[in-house]
Amino acid sequence: LLMAYEPAKRLAKLQIQMERAVVNARMIYAILDTQPHQRDKPGAHELQVREARIELKNVHFAYGTGPEILKGIDIVAEGGKTTALVGPSGAGKSTIITLIPRFYDPPQGQILIDGQDIADVTKASLRRHIAYVSQQPYLFEGTIRDNIRYGRPEATDAEIEEAAKLAYAHDFIMAQPQGYETPVGENGLTLSGGQRQRLSIARALVRNAPILLLDEATSALDTESEAAVQKALDEAMSGRTVVVIAHRLSTVVKADKIVVMQEGRVVEEGSHQELATRPEGLYARLNNLQATVRKDQ
Ligand code: ATP
Repeated sequence: LLMAYEPAKRLAKLQIQMERAVVNARMIYAILDTQPHQRDKPGAHELQVREARIELKNVHFAYGTGPEILKGIDIVAEGGKTTALVGPSGAGKSTIITLIPRFYDPPQGQILIDGQDIADVTKASLRRHIAYVSQQPYLFEGTIRDNIRYGRPEATDAEIEEAAKLAYAHDFIMAQPQGYETPVGENGLTLSGGQRQRLSIARALVRNAPILLLDEATSALDTESEAAVQKALDEAMSGRTVVVIAHRLSTVVKADKIVVMQEGRVVEEGSHQELATRPEGLYARLNNLQATVRKDQ
């Protein structure tokens, strides 16, 4: 009896973990990929990606019957480039990120990828082209290898190790007594914030998707971890269309385009150079604020 009970218990536990993960990260493509009942429009076609250019056109959005959170957003994220979303808390940055893999559908406006309205493509084909690195990477109960494999269930062991190397995670993984077979998650090895982030980046790399959505961590890591995470991110971002909710000044400065949001609207956009020299702009003010904070530390 006990033996029959065990798998059910594990499954129930996994279910709870998954629900918690969705709540925690608001979206985890790896889980949502495995949901069997994706409702697609009749006649939905497979997304065909060439440059992975993302365009939001007059996008409005509200959660349920709540207030309007996005009030007519127009953003172009060019293929292979990095677009950074910045702005005060509550501006709607995370909401934009959740609309791209269609965790929610905007009631008004369109989101196009290489000219195809994402409402007209199958969710499975859309999400196959998207990887996501959240601010608080979630680790599932399982081995380190399992956790990276969530990015792409059919990945080979060699591909997993290659992704871990690119994400600067291989060395700390090999330093564990069981290497890639080390259990992590609630009952497993406790990893540092930087190590979790690198595993999450390895998970995104193994997915090898042309679009990377990134919610940059706000919490500070120690300098060594910070440097490793930064190198891992640079690797993950290279050659991809990246939409990043940027919290670090260095990310913003390097971005090809900065989109400044406030209260559900885009209030400014341009490069760091362009925006920083407009003293009356919100970006210049945010920028000064950050400089002040850094000085004070
Ligand atoms: P932050 O940097 O604090 O995450 P943000 O710019 O990413 O801010 P959002 O997280 O998109 O902003 O939130 C925009 C607004 O939408 C906020 O008022 C927030 O309370 C609300 N909101 C976010 N998620 C939900 C949700 N699941 N249900 C209802 N309201 C939500």
